[in-house]
Amino acid sequence: MKARCLVCRDPVQVAQHPGWQQRDSAGRLRPALCLNSSYVAKVIWPWMTHSAADPACDALEFEIPAEAGEPCWCDACELHLREAGLDLNDLAQRKQFALDSVARFRKETAAYAEAVRPGLKVTFT
Ligand SMILES: [Zn+2]
Repeated sequence: MKARCLVCRDPVQVAQHPGWQQRDSAGRLRPALCLNSSYVAKVIWPWMTHSAADPACDALEFEIPAEAGEPCWCDACELHLREAGLDLNDLAQRKQFALDSVARFRKETAAYAEAVRPGLKVTFT
């Protein structure tokens, strides 16, 4: 049995955690969760631990929608951008940072799965 996860789109978490939501350049909340917020550690990783503990689960599949890689102006992204020495006002850098964030998410998620249950198959679509 494959356990599936739609990344960033979670209406319940969006409603409960505005601090995890993406923001547009005007600071308005977008109805998608940011991969640089605590959402990943508080929701995705516990979900992976729970799923991997089920003997019937033989694979994890993550669907990453396009909005996961959209440039974001939330507090977590601002902090990461600053720490990386990037220009907060440079849209191209911000776009690249957002795509890099998705790549990092995939890498960390695969590593986490391997740590939780070695050999567990993980796919991203
Ligand atoms: Zn963000």
